[in-house]
This record gives sequence, C-alpha cells and structure tokens, in this order.
Amino acid sequence: MSVHDVIVIGGSLAGAACVRRLERMGIDAIALERDRFPRPKVCGGFLSPGAVDCLGRLGLVDEILDAGAVEVTSARVRAGSAEVEFPFKRRGLGISRTVLDEVVARHTRVKQGCGVQEVKRHGRMFHVNGMECSVVIDAAGKLSRFTKRRGAGDFGIQYVEPGTQGPVLKFSFFDHGYGGSVSVERGRSNSCFLVKKDALRQYVDREDCLVTGPLAYDRLPGDFIAVGDAAGMVDPFCGEGMRHALETGMLAAQIVAQGIRRGANYEEMKAEYEAEWRRRWAAKRVVGAMIRRLLAHRRTFAAGLRVTPVWLLNRMWD
Ligand SMILES: Cc1cc2nc3c(=O)[nH]c(=O)nc-3n(C[C@H](O)[C@H](O)[C@H](O)COP(=O)(O)OP(=O)(O)OC[C@H]3O[C@@H](n4cnc5c(N)ncnc54)[C@H](O)[C@@H]3O)c2cc1C
Repeated sequence: MSVHDVIVIGGSLAGAACVRRLERMGIDAIALERDRFPRPKVCGGFLSPGAVDCLGRLGLVDEILDAGAVEVTSARVRAGSAEVEFPFKRRGLGISRTVLDEVVARHTRVKQGCGVQEVKRHGRMFHVNGMECSVVIDAAGKLSRFTKRRGAGDFGIQYVEPGTQGPVLKFSFFDHGYGGSVSVERGRSNSCFLVKKDALRQYVDREDCLVTGPLAYDRLPGDFIAVGDAAGMVDPFCGEGMRHALETGMLAAQIVAQGIRRGANYEEMKAEYEAEWRRRWAAKRVVGAMIRRLLAHRRTFAAGLRVTPVWLLNRMWD
C-alpha cells in the first residue's frame, strides 16, 4: 500500500492547484481525477482578473496564453432595456475548460482516469483507492459524493461557436436565467447560460450543447476539508467560480502544509481552513444569493443595474 501525506479527490482546477502548491512546499501529495484531460466541461470560460492573479501565483499565466487564451478587458451587461458597459481595472482571460484544465494539471501529480468511490478512516489515517494518507481533501466539484450540498433548480448549458466577441465579456439576463459569451482559443466564442429546470428543454436542442446540474450552491456540514465547488458554489453571475477554486485549493494547501509540519490533527486543520474560507468568501456568496433572489423581480433588477456604480460592478468581477 503506498502512503502519501495528502490525497486530493478531483484533479480539475481546485484539486490541481492544491497539489501543485503542496508539492512546492515539499509535501507528498497526489490528486486522483476520474476523467482524462483534455475533456469538455460546462463553464463560461471567463477567468476574472482575480483568477488570472491566482494562475500567476501558480506560475501558469504564460502557459495559458501560449495555449490560446484571449484577453478580456471589459464587460457589457444587459437586463431588459438596461445595458451597462464597463472596463476592467485588470485584464481577464477567455479560455475553454477543455484547454485550461489540461494546462493546470500538466506537470502536477494528478493521476487521471482514477475515480474515488469511498474513503475509509482508521484513527488518524485515511484509506483511499488502496493508498493511505493523513489528510484527504475533497476537490470533486459541485456534485461531489463526499461533501453534500443543498440542490437548487438551476442547470448550466454551454456551446462553442466560430467567431469571437473581441475583448468584451457579454452578459445578459433573460426570462429563464442568465449567462454570456466570451472569446476563447482558436477564434471561437464560448456561450454559457444558467437556466431554470422547467425551461431547460427549450435550450438543449442544439447537438453540441453540454448540460450540467442541478447546481448546488450551499454545502452542508461534512467530514472533509473541501475546496472549490465542493466547498460551495460562488454564483456564476460573479464570474469568480474558477478564482474560488484556485484560491481555496491554494489556501487549503498552505494550511495543511503548516498543520502537517506542526503535527496538527485533521480536525484542527479543517477548522482553521473553514474559518479562513468563511472570512474570505462569505460576502461574495451573500451577494450571489441576493442577486438570485432579485432576479425574480426583473424590473427592479434592471432598474438596479442602471444605477449601480461602475466601481461596484468592477469590484464584483475583479
Ligand atoms: C453554467 C456555469 C457557468 C460558469 N461560468 C464560469 C465563468 O465564466 N467563470 C468562472 O470563474 N466560473 C464559472 N463557473 C464556475 C466554475 O465552473 C466552477 O466554480 C469551477 O469549475 C470549480 O472548479 P472545481 O475544481 O472546484 O470543480 P470542477 O471543475 O467541477 O472539478 C471537479 C473534478 O473532480 C472530478 N471528480 C468528481 N468526482 C470524482 C471522484 N469521485 N473521484 C475522482 N474525481 C472526481 C471531476 O471529474 C472534475 O474534474 C460556472 C459554472 C457554471 C455551472
């Protein structure tokens, strides 16, 4: 039986960022990923300036630009007859998850094609897929079987089309949901929308349409340190899910590496991580939840958009 300090379940953005950081800090870590990259994934493909920052800290921005990521310098948001366009203070990037996930997992200890069915605990040690470790991290995404969440009635749909949107992220709110389009590699646009379950059928008749869901924003208390979507989703309106995944992956790595060095037990590391996660992310998640509620009152929402100061929009998307 092989023994590691840390096993991460899931090797997409949160899992790969976590392992990459742990490896740099001299911790023996491995991520077990069910899929094989490259593979498509439903996502808007917009890396916010904050997400680009995280990729910079992981030393990956040049590789992502080499892979064809497109600079995004402003957003145009439309709700009903209200339209607001504002420049970003720092650049974001557009890239498909087919390409991005492959780049982030590259040169990192991510074992692909390796799904995890069960985690067993014996005292201070965990047993996962015939391996043993003292720390397990759940990075298995919004549908993780290891951290339960409260389901919502929304689904995500996505398709890729020829032609670009230039350097503008186009975002709109419509009757059944919201979403937008952004330029991605190879002169194409990635379009992605969040729609209510009842309306799903109207949107999925395209052959190339990918669907995911149901989405689940809030996690329920669980046994594992959870990063990225497994820890709870940031509303896609904020365009910050990937930043959350990368940042929480790195945050957990830092807390776990320090914990292992001082001989802390798993529960201490989990409590420290969760307190820090709440401190950094609670406000943004509350904004997301408020926007979801406001969307039911479309006229108020459109009126609110007209008077929202640009600095506030910028803060949300940065
Ligand atoms: C419609 C929609 C649009 C979005 N648009 C944007 C956007 O434009 N910008 C943005 O920043 N964010 C966006 N997001 C959010 C973003 O996609 C997620 O926040 C991000 O993918 C989370 O990354 P993650 O690594 O936590 O999870 P995931 O990317 O879901 O990765 C989880 C990984 O775990 C693996 N896995 C699952 N179960 C197991 C198992 N049992 N064993 C092993 N591996 C397993 C999966 O194969 C997967 O690769 C959007 C989300 C939706 C739904």
